[in-house]
Amino acid sequence: MEATVRHYLERFGVREDTKRFLDQAQRMYIGGAFVSGGEGETLDVVEPSTEGVITQIPLATTADLERAVAAARAQFDNGAWRRLKPLERERLLHRLADLIEAHADELAEIESIDVGKSVSHARDVDVQGTIDTFRYFAGWASKLHGRTVEPSLPGHYLAYTRKEPVGVVGIIVPWNFPLQTLAWKLAAALAVGCTAVIKPAELTSLSTLRFAQLVQEAGFPEGVVNVVTGRGNVIGAAMARHPGIDKLTFTGSTAVGRDVGGAAVAGIKRVTLELGGKSPVLVLDDADIAAAVRGVANGMFFNAGQVCDAGSRLYVQRGIHDRFLAELIDYTRTLTIAPGLDRDCFISPLVSAQQKARVMSYVDVGRKEGAELVCGGNRLDGAGYFVAPTIFAHCRADMRIVQEEIFGPVLVSAPFDDVDEAVALANASPYGLAAAIYSRDLNRVHGLVPKLRAGNVYVNAHSTIDPAMPFGGFKESGFGKDLGAEQLDSLMETKAVWITLNEA
Ligand code: NAD
Repeated sequence: MEATVRHYLERFGVREDTKRFLDQAQRMYIGGAFVSGGEGETLDVVEPSTEGVITQIPLATTADLERAVAAARAQFDNGAWRRLKPLERERLLHRLADLIEAHADELAEIESIDVGKSVSHARDVDVQGTIDTFRYFAGWASKLHGRTVEPSLPGHYLAYTRKEPVGVVGIIVPWNFPLQTLAWKLAAALAVGCTAVIKPAELTSLSTLRFAQLVQEAGFPEGVVNVVTGRGNVIGAAMARHPGIDKLTFTGSTAVGRDVGGAAVAGIKRVTLELGGKSPVLVLDDADIAAAVRGVANGMFFNAGQVCDAGSRLYVQRGIHDRFLAELIDYTRTLTIAPGLDRDCFISPLVSAQQKARVMSYVDVGRKEGAELVCGGNRLDGAGYFVAPTIFAHCRADMRIVQEEIFGPVLVSAPFDDVDEAVALANASPYGLAAAIYSRDLNRVHGLVPKLRAGNVYVNAHSTIDPAMPFGGFKESGFGKDLGAEQLDSLMETKAVWITLNEA
């Protein structure tokens, strides 16, 4: 660990267990054992507010992936996991949730140090969301069932369906909510009886490696959960093609999702894709302005805008537009920009130098396209990948900053005159992940909801997430759902069973 990072950890009084974990040699988890893997090749892990190196993760080779898939395959095909009674699986999932809860503060610190994000948000959202997701799906393990059917075919039959786990699930996740996104995919897979091979994002693998230690401690049979750390274009791409993986569930960008999805379908794998977004927020002229200002700012700048369903396109009804924007700018300027471990941090640094450069390049694009920069637009002096929260006003629908996902703290906005125009603006995007409406008029809200082409619609709120509610996109934001009862079917095969009976 570089001295700058150690100093950073000391300055904010990081826990001893967190430091102990970060000082360990990081190893992958394959077939129930922690292994160095690879050919000894590693990747530096950088802390985003100091730009110092925390540790190294192993870069898996495809031989490591082969071992992980073989372990998951062997456990699924012949292992103890399939024979566990549903209540046993449920108990194990609860035990894992208990262990995550017992280590919640440590996991939150690891997540903050690795991703750069606010440690308070990491504790309250990422880690709490992870615990809740495992608890929610633990309960499903004992509540899965098929149905009996009365066929009209001549003769006598007992016809019924069985729900069976799809098999080995390949899980590929991005860097913005590493642990929570993993939970969104893994908890349901384990609840239905699948085994898994997980590839975290190469930028942020640490919480997944700590999580794997808790999986081992919880007592899951070997091979049920496997973690390989490595490059997306090597290990992720090989997972998408691997015949030993039955189902691929991917969260990440639309560009990569297109390739991964294509490769998975070519291999006739089942596939779920949770992809990018550019989610519209409609503020109607009857909205509670103060509440909407807070909601819009939080919905955009939470996690420094590195959120798939961030409300990154703002449309405000013309009658309140100027007042709303003025109040939004004032409020945005009060958001605390600080390193992630600072408990007051709201705007944390971005995850990497590359992400900062990407976001700043979009700020330049916005200026060149003629959008009016009304807030922020600057990087911060000193170390760290900080970008000030930024707002562009009077944007045209065809601008690149309006059409493309920036994935940073950059909000684009425009006025609208009537609700039909608002709907047209909202839907004028290749994405369809989420949309938000701010209004006090239930009739207007109910009129709008069916017209918005988005998988999640938030009213007078943003990113309200619960494991019981499905999450997923329309259009190029992907297909399939994570979370909710809806997710379960995507991880199970339905077997139709016909038993011919003699007439009594
Ligand atoms: P990314 O697509 O670059 O990477 C996502 C994952 O895919 C990483 O683990 C990466 O290593 C892997 N990967 C990269 N290239 C690959 C390839 N050729 N084959 C297989 N795997 C590959 O995305 P990112 O930059 O890590 O994350 C940001 C993106 O994720 C944004 O577009 C964001 O909107 C999206 N996202 C979507 C959701 C959702 O639920 N819809 C949630 C979070 C993030």
